[in-house]
Formats: sequence, structure tokens, C-alpha cells
Amino acid sequence: MNETIYDVIILGSGPAGLTAGIYAIRAGRKTLLIAGSRWGGQLMLTTLVENYPGFVEGIEGPELMVNMRNQTERLGVEILNSDVTEADFNKKPFEVKSDGKIFKGKSVIIATGADSIWLEAPGELQLRGKGVSTCATCDAFFFRDKDVIVVGGGDSAMEEALVLSQVTKSVTIIHRRNAFRASIAMQDRVFKEIKIKVKWNTELIKYNGTAKLESVILKNSKSGKEEVKKIDGVFIAIGHKPNTGIFKGIDLDEKGYVVRKVTKDEKGLLKFRSSTSVEGVFTGGDVHDYRYRQAVTAAGFGCMAALDADKWLMEQEK
Ligand code: NAP
Repeated sequence: MNETIYDVIILGSGPAGLTAGIYAIRAGRKTLLIAGSRWGGQLMLTTLVENYPGFVEGIEGPELMVNMRNQTERLGVEILNSDVTEADFNKKPFEVKSDGKIFKGKSVIIATGADSIWLEAPGELQLRGKGVSTCATCDAFFFRDKDVIVVGGGDSAMEEALVLSQVTKSVTIIHRRNAFRASIAMQDRVFKEIKIKVKWNTELIKYNGTAKLESVILKNSKSGKEEVKKIDGVFIAIGHKPNTGIFKGIDLDEKGYVVRKVTKDEKGLLKFRSSTSVEGVFTGGDVHDYRYRQAVTAAGFGCMAALDADKWLMEQEK
């Protein structure tokens, strides 16, 4: 048992968690940030980020995260690289378990983000890492001059296809409808890339192969017609799910996102925007935000969570 009682324990190390760390430590709060074994969040899996303000030529996602982490550490936040395995929001101070140790905090900020969703078609689990992936930036290298499929119709699918088109022979985007939901800017970039083709109204229903992926079965969602397509790689880009599986005693919505419970003061004015169903537990970033999901909004939410936690702690100290 670590007998230190932190003012703020932050769970997560994406833009929300690290920004919360910067604000909490600068408010003079003893702050622990539990970063997770795969620290840095979704931006560690991306390439050039052109929409984070302050970088004229853009910045690579991992470089941005290393900068944020170095800034947070320089200011004095303690950072642990292990996963949170338990969080008990019924005890006061709150107790969080990580790396077999229990850490106590007067307040907690949940910023554990969201992970990629898998298709869960037959054969997928066995072939993950053997031709089936959710991260083009991590795995494109293995598909040089090969033919690959990307499944999805959002910005993630467009981004995966563009990354893959730099190294592969061909990319086919498989989308279950006849229109993308991705931003027009991303769609334009995809349509301009001659290596990328689109197969509309199509679903991937099965993977074939044992030691490695050999082919997939595609089904036309209008005609029901099936075809076998020989393929070297499949990248799934169909969205994300929040990392909240271990949290108990806190309200989550039907998809597992942390529910924010905006609190008002006695005059009815907005008091805390990042509060949750448990007093003293705040949230920020993709773990509660399925709408915006941008690095800059996550950073903003992390800032709000730390300001709210600080104000709440001041009230407790009165
Ligand atoms: P998303 O916008 O939710 O898109 C998911 C896509 O996957 C949709 O086209 C959806 O089809 C499809 N899909 C979902 N479940 C499926 C299933 N079981 N089988 C087949 N297809 C399925 O998710 P996202 O692309 O990950 O983007 C999430 C957010 O991050 C968005 O706000 C996006 O703008 C943002 N983002 C931005 C950037 C960037 O700016 N560079 C990059 C990545 C993500 P339907 O369209 O039919 O529903």
C-alpha cells in the first residue's frame, strides 16, 4: 500500500489525461498520472496531424504525444506506465489499483480514451497480427507492394487507406453503404489517390487462412451475392469503444461511455462541466466524448476536468 494521498489521480495519457496533468500540477496539486502500458492514446497510432493548433507544417501524432508527456513530466507530475486494473469510487479517498499497488486520491480524473472496434467476423480473432489489423501506421510496412482492404466509411477508414496507399500495391475500401460519413476533405484525398478503389454496399463476412490471411468472403448488402477475394491484408476502421470496462460504481451510458453530470451552483449557474455521477470524480476526452473525438477537444476537456477537480478540492478544504 502506497500511503501517499494524491490530490488528483489521472487515469489515461492521451491529450486529455496529459493536459489534465499540466493544469492540476500548475494548480499546486500533488498529481499522479497512470499512463497505461500503451501510453499516449490514439495519436500514437496516427501520422501527420494538421489540425492541432500551433504547428504550421503539422506534427506527427507520436511526436505531439512525446512533447505533451515531456511537458507534463517537467512540470512535476508523477507518471506510471502501468495499466489501471481496479478503481473503487465507493471509498474515500478513492482507491485505484495499478501494477499490484493501491494508490489513493482525493479526486480522480477518468481520461482512459477509447479503442478500435473489431468486426468480429469468423476467422478474425485467429488472424489478428497475421494479416488482420486495426492500425495502418503500425502495420503498413508489412504490406509493401501487396493488396489490402480497409473496412469502414468514416475518417479513420479514409486515413488508414491513405497511409496504406503510400506503400501497398492497391487498397480497396469496403463500405456497407453507398456513401461515406467521412469529412469531405478526407473523401477528396481518397478519391484523388489512384491506388485506392471503393466497393460500395459490401460487407466482409469471413476471413480465410490459418498461418496467415489468404482471402475474405465479401457479400453485397443489396443483392446478397457473395464473392471470395484473395487479399494480403485487412484493416478494420469501424469506430471505437470507450475504455471503461474496469470501472464500477460510476454511471456509464449504454455504449459504455462515462456519463457527465453537469453540476450547477445554488443560483443555477454552471459549476462543473466535467463532473460524473460520483462527486470528486471528473472525466475528459474520448472516454466520455463520442461526438468530437479530436486531439484538441480532448485536450480542452482535460483542462476543464483539472480546473473542476481543483475547484472541488478547494471547496472540500474550506
Ligand atoms: P465513425 O465516424 O463512427 O465511422 C465508422 C464507420 O464504420 C462508418 O462508416 C460505419 O458505417 C462503419 N461501421 C461501423 N460498424 C460497422 C460494422 N459492424 N461493419 C461495417 N462497417 C461498420 O468512426 P471513425 O472513422 O473512427 O471516426 C471517429 C471520429 O474521429 C469522427 O468524429 C472522425 O471525424 C474523427 N477522426 C478524424 C480524423 C482526422 O480528422 N484526421 C481521423 C480519424 C478520425 P456507417 O457509415 O454505415 O454507419
